[in-house]
Amino acid sequence: MARCESGCSDCITACHTKHNVPDFGNPKDEIKWIWKDSYAKVFPTGSQQFLAQHLVDKPVLSLCNHCANPPCVKVCPTQATFKRADGIVEMDFHRCIGCRFCMAACPYGSRSFNWRNPREFLKQVDAEYPTREIGVVEKCNFCSERIGTGRQPACVETCKTQALVFGNLYDKDSEIREKLRTRVTFQRKPELGTEPSVFYAFEAGHV
Ligand code: SF4
Repeated sequence: MARCESGCSDCITACHTKHNVPDFGNPKDEIKWIWKDSYAKVFPTGSQQFLAQHLVDKPVLSLCNHCANPPCVKVCPTQATFKRADGIVEMDFHRCIGCRFCMAACPYGSRSFNWRNPREFLKQVDAEYPTREIGVVEKCNFCSERIGTGRQPACVETCKTQALVFGNLYDKDSEIREKLRTRVTFQRKPELGTEPSVFYAFEAGHV
């Protein structure tokens, strides 16, 4: 977050374009894969007392945390959402019956529901990723369709300040593990035991 520029939304645009995320034009029906919110909303259980002004003012990126212990997966009655062997929490849109149990179970508001036909609200369609139907839940997939072909997630590739780092948490020699070893980082609501795979660093320096 030290490198993330407050006024920039390049990662959001790249993600939502590549994944055919519809823009319904109103916040109530908004479909979000990656978005920015206030520090207080992203870390509601962290102390807000005497919070540094630069954190009060800084919009913080939010997305699915691809939890190691994902409550959304446990409640899905059709296995439409499932955890892959590599740790990514994936969605099979064809299996989703729109019950929204996963939305109730996710403590991070990381899932959105298509109350209207999303295909009618797409300005362009990226043929590399499927469009969805009305009544289906969706969320960030860590660009599973891209990393499977050796590419980085669209948000990571697009970020001009290299604020985002993606890698294999299970590989102790990976760049991401090195960064986690050498920085003070935070997960969202760690007290819930979901073990988020998304880590935040707010200072550029090392421990
Ligand atoms: Fe599931 Fe929410 Fe965790 Fe993503 S952040 S894996 S949707 S519980």
